[in-house]
Amino acid sequence: MLKWITGLFSNDIGIDLGTSNTRIFAKGDGIVTNEPTVVAVARDHTGARKVSDVGRSAKEMLGRTPTGIEAIRPMRNGVIADFESVSAMLRSFIKQIQGNRGLSAPRTIVCVPVGVTEVEKRAVREAVSTAGAREVFLIEEPMAAAMGADLPITEPSGNMVVDIGGGRTEVAVISLSGIVFANSVRVGGEKMDEAIVQYVKRRYNLYLGDQTAEEVKCRIGSATEGGPLEEIEVRGRDVVGGVPKSVVLNSDEVREALAETVTSIIETVRISLERTPPELAADIVDRGIVLAGGGALLKNLDLLLREETGLPVMISKDPMNSVIRGIGSTLEKLDLLHEIAVS
Ligand code: ADP
Ligand code: MG
Repeated sequence: MLKWITGLFSNDIGIDLGTSNTRIFAKGDGIVTNEPTVVAVARDHTGARKVSDVGRSAKEMLGRTPTGIEAIRPMRNGVIADFESVSAMLRSFIKQIQGNRGLSAPRTIVCVPVGVTEVEKRAVREAVSTAGAREVFLIEEPMAAAMGADLPITEPSGNMVVDIGGGRTEVAVISLSGIVFANSVRVGGEKMDEAIVQYVKRRYNLYLGDQTAEEVKCRIGSATEGGPLEEIEVRGRDVVGGVPKSVVLNSDEVREALAETVTSIIETVRISLERTPPELAADIVDRGIVLAGGGALLKNLDLLLREETGLPVMISKDPMNSVIRGIGSTLEKLDLLHEIAVS
């Protein structure tokens, strides 16, 4: 009876604290938060910091803040770069959810990249508790990504998942509910944006904002040659004259700008395949590679990876939400949580 009541009123949540985006899953409700991982911080006359905006409204301020306000990305390459801002942001998101549900401190599952240090893991745990969570369970991101992509992770066969996020690409081979092999690079969508900014600066003497670069990447970026030539007009500031200026970029130029980043993602996958134990490598030949994370949406990245590895490559359905969906399904299967939680 007691169990039934706690089950009924349970307000467990899951958090995907990504470099670019933060998503929260509430048990029974699904994905309730999906916002950029950005925080606007104001300083008062004493110099004390106060978080003024979080998420989407803070992202709109990036690169546009007056003195006294600063819009920052508090996660770097999958780990916490600004502890206070991360916990303030999470507190605000959790409060929004609770406002709707009127509940007490939630039990929380949160993801961490594989290959981060104990100190970095502890920082995540503490940021989430400071934000108002009760118990905090950590699970490894590729495991969640694989579950969100509906891979049969509990079976004794190898599954390879490649999660291309904003600040990091993680490759993992999973079998029997465990990560058998993992590899990651601090390369992802944000490096692509930076590469476009650099390219446009070199070629056109034009400073582009990061968000404009991101838009260019999503609209006409591609990992491969061919296809119809697409164009986009962008505005920025002239490096020499300092005045606003616009240029037209085409998809060939953008592909060229992205080439180095794309190559390093492909190389990371290739190295991972070389290091995968032979039995599991044989499974991957059959089952292929599943791509998750927003970077998986870069046009023809799956095609290029298929050409370069000779393996089947699939994009997870709804790749940006694979991790949070995986966390969500763990919330429903608490026995599995005990198996995969990071101690
Ligand atoms: P994280 O988990 O690190 O927060 P996400 O999985 O949410 O990252 O992915 C965010 C990244 O995906 C951003 O760099 C974003 O620009 C990129 N992205 C989103 N859509 C596309 C697209 N259509 N093409 C290329 N990149 C994309
Ligand atoms: Mg992610």
